[in-house]
Amino acid sequence: FIEIKNLHKAYGQEEVLKGIDLTIEKGEIISIIGSSGSGKSTLLRCLNHLESFDQGQIIYEESFQASSKEDIQKIRVNMPMVFQSFYLFEHINVLNNLTLAPVKILKMKTKDAKDKAMRILEQVNMASYAHKYPSQLSGGQKQRIAIARAMMMDPKAILFDEPTSALDPEMVQEVLAVIQNLAKSQMTMIIVTHEMNFAKDISNRVIFMHEGKIHEIGKPQQIFTYPKEARTREFLNIK
Ligand code: ATP
Ligand code: MG
Repeated sequence: FIEIKNLHKAYGQEEVLKGIDLTIEKGEIISIIGSSGSGKSTLLRCLNHLESFDQGQIIYEESFQASSKEDIQKIRVNMPMVFQSFYLFEHINVLNNLTLAPVKILKMKTKDAKDKAMRILEQVNMASYAHKYPSQLSGGQKQRIAIARAMMMDPKAILFDEPTSALDPEMVQEVLAVIQNLAKSQMTMIIVTHEMNFAKDISNRVIFMHEGKIHEIGKPQQIFTYPKEARTREFLNIK
């Protein structure tokens, strides 16, 4: 589905990704954990072509392969990213936040886009907020709208970069529940998270990143209960 081969990325002298190899299967849910600065966000941004890379290859399923600028937009449409800080358009309401890209980029009819937006808002339990502005929403609600906006594009995969890190504890669960629901629909997802219990529950595989490399990768039961690598054990505080 997506194959990453020997990916390298540096910012000036600082090598941030030092040879990442990873094959992501369709429908797979991969969580990425690891300490600050280990390159988790950079890896997601390279996957999405928000960031260029220096060496290596990312091969996408044929239907969203990139070779030109236009194709990069296609990758982002097929694989949107949900960020820690939600990046909603503040000056337009929730409904228009959802319909903007489908109408502009996918050339969807406004009426159809609105109908679809209402269906998706129901799925994330936000239908009654369609006409509110982002400033009127809580953090958890904003994040659910950001996820709904990603779903509007009928993506092939969704990338999440610490989707709950900016939220108060009581809002974390409502956002995780939305992601759990997406998991049931076989959505391919790559999730950078500090929510270890969530990662353990939802993932098919977990990656522990350390100093720009995939230090350990495995099934969640393995990584979270008997990690092989000393550094992973230290990170997870397992003796
Ligand atoms: P965190 O858990 O704090 O989000 P991370 O694992 O996501 O960390 P990255 O954001 O990928 O880490 O950053 C990896 C390294 O790259 C860090 O040392 C960071 O300072 C550096 N870095 C990231 N973005 C840039 C940038 N735009 N310019 C220069 N250096 C950068
Ligand atoms: Mg990060």
